[in-house]
Amino acid sequence: MNSDAHIPRKRFGQHFLHDPGVLQRIVAAIAPVPGQPLVEIGPGEGALTNPLLATGANLHVIELDRDLAARLRGRNAPRLRVIESDVLDIDFRALAGRLGGPLRLVGNLPYNVSSPILFHALAHLDAIVDMHFMLQKEVVDRMAAEPGGKEYGRLSVMLQAWCEVESLFNVGPGAFRPPPKVDSAVARLRPRPPAEVAIADPKRFAAIVKAAFGQRRKTLRNALQGVVPAEAVEAAGLDPGDRAERIPVDGFIRLASLSPANPH
Ligand code: SAM
Repeated sequence: MNSDAHIPRKRFGQHFLHDPGVLQRIVAAIAPVPGQPLVEIGPGEGALTNPLLATGANLHVIELDRDLAARLRGRNAPRLRVIESDVLDIDFRALAGRLGGPLRLVGNLPYNVSSPILFHALAHLDAIVDMHFMLQKEVVDRMAAEPGGKEYGRLSVMLQAWCEVESLFNVGPGAFRPPPKVDSAVARLRPRPPAEVAIADPKRFAAIVKAAFGQRRKTLRNALQGVVPAEAVEAAGLDPGDRAERIPVDGFIRLASLSPANPH
């Protein structure tokens, strides 16, 4: 290790990938297409940035750590643009406008803010072609979960309502420096075409899903009290005595479209 090696910062969730096999699999899954705006979240020391650039892609990277951003900028790589920022402050719609088309988002995400990053992306889906993210395996399991199991929850429903979610492969702690305490997995998310998503009022949908899983051991009747009347639950073809974890995504979509915004 040379004297100016970067010491990983825990508060920025820094775990740097060093396994070439894993990097190769991620790049193959992304399959960069020249001309499509590619944006990497949290490039760190460039473990994924380098093989992505090697495919000939033009790459914008968003890095919060000032030192790492400066190092990447210092490289003067012709197809690399460094944005020093918290990704949660980035308006993906504006960035897509500047780059001339919707974005492909990629990254080995900082696990401490992975859910806020996913919800931030959800709020900008019309500006996104697809996403390939390394996340904590437990989070990917929840993202891709089907109804009926304990992993199925708010994150599963919110993401699957708008995106096709796939868990691609798992990655052990030894692929990172320093190794995280948890297993990781790579996920692909593809926004569904807007015409396929029958959610007229996204805020109402989000509020219903949040209430339903807020008290996941309660029946829908009780968990949704004050949010959705029991008759609307029945009108949506659902059993008010059922629990949220057994309701498929389209059940929540029907519930949001059949129940009035102000039941009182
Ligand atoms: N891509 C690199 C790799 O695979 O080796 C680094 C991955 S590391 C898990 C996460 C990276 O995200 C770090 O470089 C960290 O500084 C950066 N980061 C953390 N929080 C961030 C945020 N809110 N916005 C942008 N980057 C962030």
